[in-house]
Amino acid sequence: MNLWSPAHEWAHDRHDEPPLTLFTSIVMWFTVLLPYAGLIALVVFTITFAQDWLSLGFFVGSYLCIGFGVTVGYHRLLAHRAFNTYRWVELMFLIFGCMAMQGPPIRWAATHRRHHQKSDHEGDPHSPHLHGTGAMGVLRGLWHAHTGWLLTKDAHRSFRSVKDLLESPMIRFIDRYYWLWLILSVLIPFSVGYAVRGTAMGGLACVFWAVIVRITLMHHATWSVNSICHVFGYRSFKSTDESRNNPVIAIISLGEGWHNNHHAFPTSARHGLRWFEFDVSYVVIRTFELLGLAWDVRRPSAHAMTEKAIAA
Ligand SMILES: [Zn+2]
Ligand SMILES: [Zn+2]
Repeated sequence: MNLWSPAHEWAHDRHDEPPLTLFTSIVMWFTVLLPYAGLIALVVFTITFAQDWLSLGFFVGSYLCIGFGVTVGYHRLLAHRAFNTYRWVELMFLIFGCMAMQGPPIRWAATHRRHHQKSDHEGDPHSPHLHGTGAMGVLRGLWHAHTGWLLTKDAHRSFRSVKDLLESPMIRFIDRYYWLWLILSVLIPFSVGYAVRGTAMGGLACVFWAVIVRITLMHHATWSVNSICHVFGYRSFKSTDESRNNPVIAIISLGEGWHNNHHAFPTSARHGLRWFEFDVSYVVIRTFELLGLAWDVRRPSAHAMTEKAIAA
């Protein structure tokens, strides 16, 4: 008996997924939970050695709030219009998104929409696949997709794809005052740290965790979606690119690592589509929907998923 998967017994003309065995389910859960255990270990380590709950609280709080600003605000709401919401909710998410220091929202959305239009073809701003063959070609591609593209001149830059965003006075306002939201992202942890600890060092400790450490980790998480999730991982759906679902990146990027699902259904608010594909950003959107704060939440139909599914 094959403990891993009964796929070999599954008729080749079937297009649905073979059922998971108990063993497969346990391994899948382990795969998902292991990186969380690592995170908990990191938190315990930091508490033991830092002895500073306030800084740690700022780190976790800012990683989540500002992270959702990027994943829910910049990406799913602004770039893909995957759901609808009140203006004040959009304002809140986009201001948090600005605090991530990944660029003003309109430019971010324009770059990202082009990534979907040209994905892994000429004109894609950050594909890892157009940089030669062999091991060096792969390494050059990974570097370009991870960080290099930010350092090279983008010949294709255009705001043609974001006319809808340029028409919104509120989005233009947030975009114009991008620098203000960045200053606030430093000023808030410094002020609270200073007020609670009573020293400038207390304020700077909060800035260290809420700005320096958070940006370091979050930038790598976002960049990994561009680099790793176009090279390493599994594919569930047909798409015209090399996008992959990667469980580790999905956890650190708050659900964005289910990237093959996302390229197959770009306007879906939900990226994790199988039961083990945990997508915390979708949990946020779904909670807002249940509270009546989000509507027109887009998800792929069962028929659409069957149509695009890669046969097991
Ligand atoms: Zn992609
Ligand atoms: Zn996208």
